[in-house]
Amino acid sequence: MPQSIRTRVAIVGAGPAGLILSHLLAEEGIESVVIDRRTRAEIESTIRAGILEQGTVELLTRIDPGTRVQTVGERHDGIELRFQGEGHRIDFQALVGRSVWLYPQHEVLTDLLALRAGAGQDLRFGVTASGIDDTDPDQPRVIATDSQGDNVVIDADFVVGADGSRSVMRSAVAGASGNGVFREYPFAWFGILCDAPPSSDELIYSNSDDGFALISQRSPQVQRMYFQCDPGMDAQAPSEAEIWATLQARVPGTSLKRGPVFQRDVLSFRSFVAGELRRGRLALVGDAAHTVPPTGAKGMNLAVADVVLLARALHALLREDDSRLIDTYSERALRRIWKAQHFSWWMTGMLHTPPRGDDFDRRRQIGELRSVVESEAGRAYLAEAYTGWPLDV
Ligand SMILES: Cc1cc2nc3c(=O)[nH]c(=O)nc-3n(C[C@H](O)[C@H](O)[C@H](O)COP(=O)(O)OP(=O)(O)OC[C@H]3O[C@@H](n4cnc5c(N)ncnc54)[C@H](O)[C@@H]3O)c2cc1C
Repeated sequence: MPQSIRTRVAIVGAGPAGLILSHLLAEEGIESVVIDRRTRAEIESTIRAGILEQGTVELLTRIDPGTRVQTVGERHDGIELRFQGEGHRIDFQALVGRSVWLYPQHEVLTDLLALRAGAGQDLRFGVTASGIDDTDPDQPRVIATDSQGDNVVIDADFVVGADGSRSVMRSAVAGASGNGVFREYPFAWFGILCDAPPSSDELIYSNSDDGFALISQRSPQVQRMYFQCDPGMDAQAPSEAEIWATLQARVPGTSLKRGPVFQRDVLSFRSFVAGELRRGRLALVGDAAHTVPPTGAKGMNLAVADVVLLARALHALLREDDSRLIDTYSERALRRIWKAQHFSWWMTGMLHTPPRGDDFDRRRQIGELRSVVESEAGRAYLAEAYTGWPLDV
């Protein structure tokens, strides 16, 4: 006999989307079960996002006044756009009165897992969902397997797919093909983590004739840097000396502080939005619903924005029997998702060197960068989108 669980909301995925949703539901007295195929230790150690919008930080601070985002995280009031060897600061505070925080996603997850476990959340690790049985559309059922290979079924009033970019929940909501829109890019990022002090106070987004580079950060001792590469590049191929030479050539004017590289990966770029974010009593949030290229630092922030909308809609549905917000969840979430898709696409195109670009493409791109940095309106658009639009619209 499969292990049978009954709850109000079954959440598949204990990433930022699933954990924050479980918290917002608990605040409204709505019980949930969260399952994740990984172990807690694996979730807490996967290196991913680093930049949190102001609205994300305000939400994390409200739900967990003890969050280390304010103590360990670092507020950044601007970024630098660099091209033709010159740096141009985009001053977020002066332009829009907002900031972003550098606080790695695995630290956010460590905080959230401690918060939810401390509150008695039913969290089940090593449990992998394989699909949905929605024979009874009012009582969808998650079909899963635990780490011993035993079957688990979760009966719920609502099921949320917060299971990331390779979502298995997506087909239950949006159809077998995912039925969405998709864009692939002709380049990728070669990313490193290294033991070194920061090379600059703020992030540098550098467009150079040789390709893009991002000089990001992780902590006072560990740095994250990326350079544009071919999507087929082998992450193990270049020597450390070659990696540093490539990075350094792409940020003329800054002498990079070097140290041992202890992680390297190639990150391909995709834009995707599922055709449906909700069907009956099933909904998608976060990367399960959409993917953005990382240039705009939007992925995790967008997951948080979906969850804020969905939590409110589930409160109305499950506590007040009012389906109006759930009926419009897709439409309202998609407004922000497409703004973020546009911003991520725009930053990506403006900063990366097209592999088969000609002289026209290169000169036009410099014209585009100048249109941004030499115009207050251009800088303000970038600052507004990067620091994030208000969370509840
Ligand atoms: C290198 C990199 C840098 C990034 N930088 C930024 C940034 O600076 N700012 C930003 O906002 N975003 C950034 N992102 C994107 C961000 O990391 C994601 O958008 C974010 O993790 C999405 O959260 P999520 O909860 O939707 O999905 P995930 O974090 O992917 O969580 C999904 C969870 O579901 C679990 N799961 C999957 N399938 C199943 C299953 N069948 N059954 C049970 N559990 C399952 C997974 O184990 C996982 O824990 C970056 C991403 C990468 C890769």
